[in-house]
Amino acid sequence: MALLSLEKVNFSYNSSFRLEDISLEVKGGDFIGIIGPNGSGKSTLIKLMAGFLLPHSGRVNLEGQPLTKLERKAVARKVAVVSQGVHTDFDFTVEEMVSLGRLPYLRRWQSEGPGDAEAIERALTMTELDSFRLRFFNRLSGGEAQRVMVAQALAQQPEIMLLDEPTTYMDMAYQKDMFALMSQLNQKGLGIVAVLHDVNLAALYCKRLVAIRAGKIYAEGTPDQVITRENIAAIYGCTVEISRHPLAGCPQVIMLP
Ligand code: ADP
Ligand code: MG
Repeated sequence: MALLSLEKVNFSYNSSFRLEDISLEVKGGDFIGIIGPNGSGKSTLIKLMAGFLLPHSGRVNLEGQPLTKLERKAVARKVAVVSQGVHTDFDFTVEEMVSLGRLPYLRRWQSEGPGDAEAIERALTMTELDSFRLRFFNRLSGGEAQRVMVAQALAQQPEIMLLDEPTTYMDMAYQKDMFALMSQLNQKGLGIVAVLHDVNLAALYCKRLVAIRAGKIYAEGTPDQVITRENIAAIYGCTVEISRHPLAGCPQVIMLP
């Protein structure tokens, strides 16, 4: 059974934008990249998958159960979300931010136990944030802050991770580390759905791509099926050449001047 599934989901904020008839399944070993131009509805889709927004029609299911019938904490033990541009009003340290990932496991007024401390330590280590733990979250660079939000999601020990442009503010080395970490977690069975701006990185790391255009799924399949000249022209309105990655063999987009 799919861990997370969308059945004919429709949603709109107002009359100007609609997310239309989205059906999608996420299984344990999936690594799905969501691509598409600005304003096409990628972040909205992630919010619907996370249950932060409710569909106007259609359903979002977690292990076959409608998300709306499940407790928020029960959902958060299975699905972690790394949103864009998180800011806090308090001066949380990196360690405190990561420890918030344990909230779905704590009952009211209960303090953290050894299992929580272990999950937090593991998340800090995996994201190479050990030396950042006492730094203030709000004073980090964009890329560092994104890494902390991934660590928080890891501390949540989810079965699916939804990430909205996790590598946007990262330099090349950070990006590579982030994708290597996502691949490693994916190999251990974590389902990953990531909105990605960089089509070439998406083709390199994702097993399946979903291309959104104007609120609809325009193309879906392997990187080879989705990353074609025709699709890129239709989705982004750009004329490109498609080349092959010299080592991985996957399609890579070459911009034409
Ligand atoms: P993407 O992530 O692909 O750039 P979004 O899902 O953020 O696109 O947005 C899709 C459309 O919905 C855009 O036109 C955006 O302006 C609009 N939108 C996003 N959030 C809201 C909101 N809270 N209220 C009204 N319109 C919104
Ligand atoms: Mg977005």
